[in-house]
Amino acid sequence: MDTSPSSLTRVSASELRAALTGRLITPDDGGYDQARTVFYGDIDRRPAAIVRVADATDVARVVSFARQSGLALAVRSGGHSIAGHSVADGGIVLDLRDLRTLDIDPQQRTAWAQTGLTAGEYTTAAAAHGLATGFGDTGSVGIGGITLGGGIGYLVRKHGLTIDDLLAAELVTADGQLLRVDADHHPDLFWAIRGGGGNFGVATRFQFRLHELHQIVGGLLLLPATPEVIADFVAEADAAPEELSAIANVMPAPPLPFVPAEHHGKLVVLATLAYAGAVQDGQRAVAPFRALATPIADLVRPMPYPGLYPPEEEGFHPTAVLRTMFVDGIDRPVAETIVEHLQASDAPLRIAQLRVLGGAMARVPTDATAFAHRRSRIMVNVTALYDGPADRAVREAWVEEFAAALRQGDDGAYVNFLADEDQARVHQAYPGRTWDRLAAIKRRWDPTNLFHRNQNIPPTTGAADGEVSADGKRAAAGARASTQSHGRA
Ligand SMILES: Cc1cc2nc3c(=O)[nH]c(=O)nc-3n(C[C@H](O)[C@H](O)[C@H](O)COP(=O)(O)OP(=O)(O)OC[C@H]3O[C@@H](n4cnc5c(N)ncnc54)[C@H](O)[C@@H]3O)c2cc1C
Repeated sequence: MDTSPSSLTRVSASELRAALTGRLITPDDGGYDQARTVFYGDIDRRPAAIVRVADATDVARVVSFARQSGLALAVRSGGHSIAGHSVADGGIVLDLRDLRTLDIDPQQRTAWAQTGLTAGEYTTAAAAHGLATGFGDTGSVGIGGITLGGGIGYLVRKHGLTIDDLLAAELVTADGQLLRVDADHHPDLFWAIRGGGGNFGVATRFQFRLHELHQIVGGLLLLPATPEVIADFVAEADAAPEELSAIANVMPAPPLPFVPAEHHGKLVVLATLAYAGAVQDGQRAVAPFRALATPIADLVRPMPYPGLYPPEEEGFHPTAVLRTMFVDGIDRPVAETIVEHLQASDAPLRIAQLRVLGGAMARVPTDATAFAHRRSRIMVNVTALYDGPADRAVREAWVEEFAAALRQGDDGAYVNFLADEDQARVHQAYPGRTWDRLAAIKRRWDPTNLFHRNQNIPPTTGAADGEVSADGKRAAAGARASTQSHGRA
């Protein structure tokens, strides 16, 4: 096979194509533009090839091909990377979207899920058995990316992060091996992939724990966004039983059919509540939120859990800027800052999203997984849609300034909401020892940084010549990082 560095010749493309069970799509093939499209509309990259893999053997072939050819390797599951990591100009996209088998064992309450599934597909299939694993707030997000970064969603306070229900994974590592990874097999990798993103290999399957969940009390609640309501909402979410998780978007009211016209464009708290427990208890738990102000709309009711993932608009590819952070509290003055900033912008869509954390997520020790923000209290995502490059600069300045005004003592960041920022921000996702431990595991499993199109953790260099084991302790000299290097740090 011709694998001359950094190019995909006709010969190497046809040889790779012949070796695959799945499909290789190059710029000359029909469907190329559709295949390179990802969720965000401003990510317009032209890879040399997209491989829609059919099985783990294909994955291993593509990984080996990328390693030998020197082509940048992008890994795609659901295509929702905020930084646009799942497609690369001139590179090769390993596209997992055709791997969609889901084997649910209702007796054991476990499921093996291929990583091309979306959160919505998994949730709908599991709900048919009265079972659930928690993912995020959007059904079209891929289980691949969300799981490897942590996974913060509607069950976070009740059952923790998605990774807290991850029992095992199958992973193709940089040398092309397919490994089973769990608490007993390669525990260093199992620790690293629970939060460390796509740095350590390509996950082809996950085994998840499922929880009994026949229905929830949940749905949308719209309240007027005064500073008082915002601060009180956060206080109620913090005081609520762990069965209740809430995501509150402070934003101009969208012109949705259930929003009275006089509220369109006015600031509201558009919240999604999810109570995972008995209906009566759920009604009691949501009552304080309803009492914060006269609701503009109240769609909270007993419903099947997948009801929180309504059908999404086909072909919706927003262009957006986003900053993520954790804060310790949202009192009246902070809520006033939120209202002032949202009022000062004229972006057609601008949101301060507030997620009160805690509960089961916070009970897992901080160093038990590579997600290190167990004690963080509230996640805030500030976002604005933009239209074109000039507008982007304006919106980018606004989110930066808004985020700076909100920043408190916690300078951590959740990796899955990082945009294409700098290396310091990736460090904030993996503070202190977490970073050192990840970099050492990276050195062991991906010394040439083949998997670098992600929020990247470069392998430790050979200087100290010591490995860090799964429990974070330095051990005797390990293998030196190869001098060959793939791409940027
Ligand atoms: C609209 C929207 C809503 C969101 N809501 C939430 C939320 O509520 N909670 C939350 O926690 N996150 C949320 N996110 C963030 C989301 O978790 C990340 O963007 C995640 O990376 C998306 O996963 P994906 O598989 O769709 O993305 P992709 O773009 O396919 O993948 C992103 C990156 O993850 C890695 N990766 C993906 N799959 C694999 C794999 N199988 N093996 C190895 N590496 C892989 C790769 O590095 C890849 O570049 C949201 C994002 C969007 C756009």
